[in-house]
Amino acid sequence: MENNQETDGQLDERFQHSMPGHDMLEKGAILQRDGTYAIAPHIPGGIITDPELLIKIAGVAKKFNCPAIKVTSSQRIAIVGLKREDVDAAWQELGMKPGAAIGLCVRSVKFCPGTTFCKRGQQDSVGLGSEIDKRYHGMTLPSKFKISVSGCPNKCMDAMVIDFGVVGTPKGFTVYVGGNGGLNPRFGEKLAEHQTSEQVLDILDRTIAYYKKEARTNERLGKFIDRVGFDRFRQEVIPGQTFH
Ligand code: SF4
Repeated sequence: MENNQETDGQLDERFQHSMPGHDMLEKGAILQRDGTYAIAPHIPGGIITDPELLIKIAGVAKKFNCPAIKVTSSQRIAIVGLKREDVDAAWQELGMKPGAAIGLCVRSVKFCPGTTFCKRGQQDSVGLGSEIDKRYHGMTLPSKFKISVSGCPNKCMDAMVIDFGVVGTPKGFTVYVGGNGGLNPRFGEKLAEHQTSEQVLDILDRTIAYYKKEARTNERLGKFIDRVGFDRFRQEVIPGQTFH
């Protein structure tokens, strides 16, 4: 179902050759098994504070006779079963941007309720996740790149199996890098502890800049770290710090 891609023109030519042929990426529409399409608007953190938005999404599904609305693993709500000729009109009705769910880019930035809603929250995962989403969602990179922020060590946002996983603790945030799921799962490695939100953003800025500059096409962050070495990677993204 999830195969869509931010469509506001960030994809540079270096990465376009690996895009699949049958989705309508420029329209954020993903081909389904039966030839219809699914679209999934961008809903940061999957948090909706205005019930009217949910009503609008449901209204679009109803108007275009879609057989399903699906809550996705990327904290989105997909409208499933759109006819090809209805895709443009559906987006127009929604008035929302597509979520980035395929291609070589920053995919959905997942974050849990943290101290905003969850009784176990130890850090503001919503605040940090929202800021990360604003800065990076949909950015073109050498490979897909997933980010999550969990508000406590329960790690409800799968921090260990995601490219850049952030976890709240009583002393700040812990950062894990290089995890992934899929065919060959890899656990992330602990990069830093006791970080403020600003320090996490700084580490992420450097990580993305280094990765964008040096990684090979389709090389996930974990593979990239394996190639350059964790110590060198750490020196690049947290410069000036002595590690033992
Ligand atoms: S990671 Fe912690 S704060 Fe976030 S939803 Fe899970 S239990 Fe709550």
